[in-house]
Amino acid sequence: MKNLSHWEKEIYFENIDCIIIGSGIVGLNAALYIKQKEPKLKVVVLERGMFPDGASNRNAGFACFGSPSELLEDLKTHTEEEVFSLVDKRWEGLQLLRSNLGDKNIGYEPFGGYELFNPMDEALYEDCYYQLGYLNKLLSPIVGAFTTYKIVDNKINKFGFKHTNHLIENVAEGQINTGKMMQTLLNKVTKLGVLVLNNFSVISYDDDGDKVEVHSDDGIVISAKKLLIATDGFAKQLLPELDVQPARAQVLITKPIANLKIKGGFHFDRGFYYFRNVGKRVLFGGGRNLNFKEEETFELGLTDRVQDQLDLLLRETILPNTSYEIDMRWSGIMGMGEKKSVIMKTLSTNTFCAVRSGGMGVAIGSLTGVDAATMVLQSL
Ligand SMILES: Cc1cc2nc3c(=O)[nH]c(=O)nc-3n(C[C@H](O)[C@H](O)[C@H](O)COP(=O)(O)OP(=O)(O)OC[C@H]3O[C@@H](n4cnc5c(N)ncnc54)[C@H](O)[C@@H]3O)c2cc1C
Repeated sequence: MKNLSHWEKEIYFENIDCIIIGSGIVGLNAALYIKQKEPKLKVVVLERGMFPDGASNRNAGFACFGSPSELLEDLKTHTEEEVFSLVDKRWEGLQLLRSNLGDKNIGYEPFGGYELFNPMDEALYEDCYYQLGYLNKLLSPIVGAFTTYKIVDNKINKFGFKHTNHLIENVAEGQINTGKMMQTLLNKVTKLGVLVLNNFSVISYDDDGDKVEVHSDDGIVISAKKLLIATDGFAKQLLPELDVQPARAQVLITKPIANLKIKGGFHFDRGFYYFRNVGKRVLFGGGRNLNFKEEETFELGLTDRVQDQLDLLLRETILPNTSYEIDMRWSGIMGMGEKKSVIMKTLSTNTFCAVRSGGMGVAIGSLTGVDAATMVLQSL
């Protein structure tokens, strides 16, 4: 049990208007919007990690809104309206991210996106090939380009890929520097007077109708008028009733490679694998589909099963005949569920949540933060 000093209590924890749990993209964007709209409100963000410890500081930094096979896969379980309104949200979210923080500050590069098809994917490619016109037509009013996807098999050799029969380009995608983006966002939020407290792990909360109390793992109790839970993949720990499963995503990054031919963001196997250049390095991740159950965990960690497969694909398909070294490997935790949509709702009189970014939080996180903040502001 930790005892606060009078000063700590007075400065940090008295008269709080809104507590936000989670300092990822969603939590910080919600804090940003609340302060932009109502500068006098006291907003405190509580974060368990030394850094944001879920996905926002650990992702791959694709500014993407869906590859052809991913959209066709989604159309099997969601209506056309649902799929394209989500694409619209991803697109709008990316525009908001860029205008809020500035392209330079987030290292935005409009290098385009690509989907690779290996010889085993011939049926999947045929599906995409025949549906490309349909997808382009529905994307056109969102993206503002007549042809978003185009077949560019002629570029396969330019990039140096092996075991790749087809390549489809997405001209409207880009990439960001995740670290710069989060640092800029945090700076912007703290400049507006939001308190972001790290190493603060919330274990429970209680909404008595007048106020909300949150309890930390070391016995601190703080109260506020409103509480927003923005813990994405960890949502079930505080909100066990919600359909949000943790989904670990593992990645690796190479050391800089001389004469690297790869430039852009690339996906294959319906989005389950993804790689991009980070300057002269290659960042490669995915493989959750090798064992969904094993990757349904709150634990940051790596497995041989996934890392061996990443190594194999990197060596044989992505960087064949290239000498490279792996620099680092890491993982992050995302929030997934049956539906590919954020759970944004009022949980009780003063408590709200915005969780389950579905592995798309770079794209939709800024918008989700604004929507969550609007919900909180309307209740104040
Ligand atoms: C490897 C990887 C690659 C990805 N690539 C992309 C991509 O290219 N493009 C894209 O759009 N998206 C990508 N994503 C997904 C994206 O990063 C997430 O959807 C997004 O970061 C989610 O943001 P968030 O704020 O909702 O959650 P998070 O960033 O996970 O933030 C939630 C925070 O809550 C904190 N927390 C949890 N429980 C508690 C508690 N009890 N008390 C206090 N704090 C708590 C956590 O520590 C965490 O920092 C990727 C994710 C990963 C892991």
